[in-house]
Amino acid sequence: MSFDSLGLHAEILRAVLDSGYTEPTPVQARAIPVVLSGRDVLAGAQTGTGKTAAFTLPLLHKLQPYANTSASPARHPVRALILTPTRELCDQVFDSVVTYSKYLPIRATAVFGGVDMKPQTESLRRGSEIVVATPGRLLDHVQGKTINLSQVEMLILDEADRMLDMGFILDIRKILSLLPAHRQTLLFSATFAPEIKKLAEDFMRSPETIEVARRNATNESVEQHIHSAEAGNKRRVLAHLIRHHDMQQVIVFTRTKLMADRLARELKRDGFNCEAIHGDRTQQSRLETLAAFKEGTLRVLVATDVAARGLDVSELPFVVNFEMPTNPEDYVHRIGRTGRAGALGIAISLVSPEEDKSLVLVRKLTNKPLEISEVPGQMEFGRPRERSNGSSAAPTAPREYRESYEPRESREPRAHRESGRRVIEQVETPLVEGRRRNHDAALGGRVAGSVHRFHHGREVVREVPALLLPPRYTVSK
Ligand code: AMP
Repeated sequence: MSFDSLGLHAEILRAVLDSGYTEPTPVQARAIPVVLSGRDVLAGAQTGTGKTAAFTLPLLHKLQPYANTSASPARHPVRALILTPTRELCDQVFDSVVTYSKYLPIRATAVFGGVDMKPQTESLRRGSEIVVATPGRLLDHVQGKTINLSQVEMLILDEADRMLDMGFILDIRKILSLLPAHRQTLLFSATFAPEIKKLAEDFMRSPETIEVARRNATNESVEQHIHSAEAGNKRRVLAHLIRHHDMQQVIVFTRTKLMADRLARELKRDGFNCEAIHGDRTQQSRLETLAAFKEGTLRVLVATDVAARGLDVSELPFVVNFEMPTNPEDYVHRIGRTGRAGALGIAISLVSPEEDKSLVLVRKLTNKPLEISEVPGQMEFGRPRERSNGSSAAPTAPREYRESYEPRESREPRAHRESGRRVIEQVETPLVEGRRRNHDAALGGRVAGSVHRFHHGREVVREVPALLLPPRYTVSK
C-alpha cells in the first residue's frame, strides 16, 4: 500500500515524502482512513509503530480547510488538542506536527511544564490550530485564561495508559469537561487496561477499535536477552556489554532517579560519554540531553521510566534494563524504544536474584520464555598493569567481585589444601545459586580450578575462575 492511496492532501503527502517514508506502517494504514471518515478511534498501538503519524496526518488533512495566513488570532482558534503524558513526548509530537505540516499554513504550539510559561502564552495569544500539551500545564493555561478550548473539534489522547499510570485521570476528566461534546476523539494506548476501556466508554462515541499488535505484546523486531547479574556487579557487566556490542547509542533504564544519577556518574568515570535524565532535572537540561543523544554526541542515556516515556530516537539499536521495572508493562514500553518502525533492535536486561519476581511477571505478561543467557564475550577486569620489564601482570578481579566472593569471617573455610591444579575447600555454608551463576557468567568461563564444598554432607563441586581465587590459594601450573 502507498501513502497516495490514503486520500491525504497533496501538501501533507509532500511532507511525508520528505521524511523518506515510502509506505504506511500497519497502524497508519488502518487508522488513517477511519480518522478521515470522522469516527472515534481506540487504537492499541505500541510505541514505535508509527502511531504519531497515524493520528497527525489525518488530523492535518481535516484541519487543512482552515489553513490560512491571516495575522488575526481570531482566524486561528484551537481546533485540535493532543494530550501526552510527558514533556519529552509532548515536544516530540510537536516536532512531528511541525514536520508534517510544513507545507500548510497551520499553526501549532507545545504546552508543557518545567519551562517558562510566557513564550507558550504568547504563541497561544497569536492563535494556534493545534495544541500539543501535558495535562498539568494545559490546566495552568486554562486557569490563566490564556487558552480557549471551546472550538476544539479533535482530541487525541496519546499514550493514554501512561497518563493514567501517572495519575492524570482527574486532570484528563477536567479537560474533557471543557471541550465541546461534539468532537472526534482518538485514544492511543500501548495497553488496554480496564481503566482505558472505562475512559473510552465515558468519553467516546462508538469508537472503532484498531489493534495492530497483540495486547501487551513486545515488539517482534526486538531481540531480547536476559543476563543474570548481581546488583553490585551490574555496572561492570553493563560497561562490558557496551564495549562488547560496540553500542554507540544506548538507553539504560533504572528504576529510581537516584540510581540514574549514580550510574551516570560511574559510567562517566569509566570513560563513557553519558548523561542521566529524570524528573528532577530541569526541563531545559532534559531537552538538551535528549537533543545531544538524538544527534549522536551522547553515547549512553540513563533514564527513568517516566522521563524516557515515548522517547523516539530513530533506529535506536540498544536498550538496557539496568534494573527490572516493578510494573511489567514498563518492560514493554522500555524495550519499545528500540526496534522502531521495523528496524532491528536489541534489548538486554540485567536481572539480579532479588529481581527474579519481576522477570516472572514480565514473562507472564509478554508470554515469552525469556530465558537467562550468559553474558557474551570475555569480561575484562581493568587494564593489566605494565611491569617495569614490559610484561603485563595478570589482570585483577574488581573489588566488588572479591568482596562478594570471599567468605566472611564466619564462613572461613575450616580446612583447605592444594592438590595440583585443584583447590579443595570445605565450608558448611550453602552457596547462593544466583551469585554463583552470575560469577560464572560474568567471568566468561575463565576457569582455573575447582572448589569442593560440603553442605550437609553433600559435596558441591564448582569451577573457580582464577581471578576469584583468594591470594593465599596459588594455582600451580
Ligand atoms: P512512533 O510510533 O510515532 O513513535 O514512530 C516511530 C518511528 O517510526 C518514528 O521515528 C517515525 O519517524 C517512524 N515512522 C513513522 N511512520 C513511518 C513510515 N511510514 N515509514 C517509516 N518510518 C516511519
